[in-house]
Amino acid sequence: MKFFADNFKQQFPLFAQPENRDLVYLDNAATTQKPACVIQAISDFYLHTNANTHRSSHRLARRATEMVEKVRRDAARFLGTASPREIIFTRGATEGLNLLAHSLCSRLSPGDEILLSTAEHHANLVPWQMQAASRGLQLRFVPHTGGIPQFERIAEVLSPRTKIVSVTAGSNALGLRTDLPALRAALSGQDLFWVLDGAQLAAHDRVDVASIGCDFFVCSAHKFYGPTGIGLVFGREELLQELPPWQGGGEMIASVDLLASEYAELPHRFEAGTSSLASIAGLGACMDFLEKQDRVAMAMHEQSLVHALHEKLGQIPGLNLLSRGEHNLGIATFTHPRCAAIDLAQWLDGRDIAVRVGHHCAQPLLRAAGHTATLRASVAAYNSDEDIERFVAAVQEFLAHLEVEDAVPVREVHAPVADGSWSPDDLSSLDVAALRNKKSWQDRYRSLMAWARFVSRKDGIRSPENLVRGCESSAWLVHRCERGVHRFAIDSDSRVVKGLGALLLTLLDGKPSGSVSREQVQEVFDELGLAQQLSESRSNGFRALLERAFELMGA
Ligand code: PMP
Repeated sequence: MKFFADNFKQQFPLFAQPENRDLVYLDNAATTQKPACVIQAISDFYLHTNANTHRSSHRLARRATEMVEKVRRDAARFLGTASPREIIFTRGATEGLNLLAHSLCSRLSPGDEILLSTAEHHANLVPWQMQAASRGLQLRFVPHTGGIPQFERIAEVLSPRTKIVSVTAGSNALGLRTDLPALRAALSGQDLFWVLDGAQLAAHDRVDVASIGCDFFVCSAHKFYGPTGIGLVFGREELLQELPPWQGGGEMIASVDLLASEYAELPHRFEAGTSSLASIAGLGACMDFLEKQDRVAMAMHEQSLVHALHEKLGQIPGLNLLSRGEHNLGIATFTHPRCAAIDLAQWLDGRDIAVRVGHHCAQPLLRAAGHTATLRASVAAYNSDEDIERFVAAVQEFLAHLEVEDAVPVREVHAPVADGSWSPDDLSSLDVAALRNKKSWQDRYRSLMAWARFVSRKDGIRSPENLVRGCESSAWLVHRCERGVHRFAIDSDSRVVKGLGALLLTLLDGKPSGSVSREQVQEVFDELGLAQQLSESRSNGFRALLERAFELMGA
């Protein structure tokens, strides 16, 4: 069946706002936009239902309680279980994993093993690390190549001491789906708890925990068009019955004495305090919304987008694609040797194309693959072929622009120096007035990147003591005073940071003390309109460079 992405998109009011008409939103693995029915349900909750659940015996409290328990029943169906007692509301996948790590590990003995994978989101690593450290447990990892887990080799690392296997159903950094039937077969008959991080999977597939066969499953509603602040934990009832609660407080007790308490029945004993009630209402609307969609056609549409993404990106010379189009949860991740990922993302932002850059909360995976940051584009069902085309065209445009830039020979301005000694770059031909006269922001951005070429690579200054804290990309700044004037040198992996550094040094390098103030430099930055156009973290990065430069000058 054909899926009409345009009709689907019309249900998302954010895209209809005047400022968002041209937006290409490809940051869906971080969070999705919300349909009108979800926004309405949250507002309706506060307009018609707002009261705390369970404790009070009035009309509104009854209504709120009924709503929460209905959404719980719907969530049970949504995840493929018959029993709402197996559904726990949490703040999100992270809280769900913390709950499980705490409760499950309390059943283990020192030396017991927890098996994880190198592709885990930090949310499925750190809670286990914390438990391992405090209880003397061992963390083990599925064999991998370059960080990519080889789940087919899991038997090699299972031992009689393996008590928990907690792995992702699909990586948020690479989009790689885990082969769940194969994993089920490998784990069947083992005396252990199987936890599945379904944060990305639930955004793209109908989930059926019964056929997956896991013991526990966690997800966050905001990844599948629902509100933030609400997530689900599924746990098999006979296992949950045996587990101690995680957090203590109201709602999770049957009776409380001064020295001990009796806990409530399932699932309430795992829900201490007031839940995110409005978000639960939004989750209910979101599940109704998804129920009405043709999920198979939706998934096929997403698959075709992700294939197109990989095919088109794969044709760009030199581009290093870390993800693959097959078995993929809607994610393309890549680097390019010509530019820092952050510079490209900034350029795309200038074209109103939203992507994400960084380690994607999967530092071990990226490190094993030899990267610190990649650019990630992730699709949802409201994306169109045109979105993919605009994105790829903008990437190509940026790279073509850099190619032209790089073809212009730069005057060799100084001899390369080693051993931490350095000489300043010759920035005398850079003209701030000409930069100011550029008509558009894109032209200024291009000029700044051209300026970056006057900043040479200086391995000798790339050391921790010269690193400027607060810059989004690494930047190193050094200074000395020579015959009464201040001399500087800068280096960075990012062209934009180099360009901004060149701008700063054009104003400061070779000047005597007291001739330029912080305010004057900031004024130039503001006049160029950089504060409005650069991301907040980039602007903060410029301020960090500025502060460091004045600190080095003793000003
Ligand atoms: N696991 C995976 C695979 C994720 O992608 C995310 C969110 N990026 C999480 C866990 C954590 O989800 P949340 O931040 O909603 O708690």
